[in-house]
Amino acid sequence: MQKTDSPILSSVFGRCPRCGGGHLFAGYLEVARSCNACGLDYTGHDAADGPVVPIMLIVGFLSAVGALWLELTFHPSIWLHLIIWPPLILLLSLALLRPFKALFIGAQFKLRAEGGKFPDKNL
Ligand SMILES: [Zn+2]
Repeated sequence: MQKTDSPILSSVFGRCPRCGGGHLFAGYLEVARSCNACGLDYTGHDAADGPVVPIMLIVGFLSAVGALWLELTFHPSIWLHLIIWPPLILLLSLALLRPFKALFIGAQFKLRAEGGKFPDKNL
């Protein structure tokens, strides 16, 4: 199990915000009950809809700029846009959802957000 010290890398790899070694997720987006390395209790976390907002901004910007560039550069048929952009938007959104959720949970832990109720006994 790879241990990460950086909060950003912990988020990218879905690791515990405290030790950087244990798994944060039990499924694709389901958060585990506790860290399997340090025992940090994950219950009470609340990333809610927070991760969706930056993902919508990032994916929306990339897809709009990409579609505009493709249209102005190659003038393809509309069906080519319909083939390219919906699957790309879906894949990018799904790829970014897990790291952004981990980033929000890690930020709640680091900032000791009350809603998260993470214990701060080992900080
Ligand atoms: Zn841990």
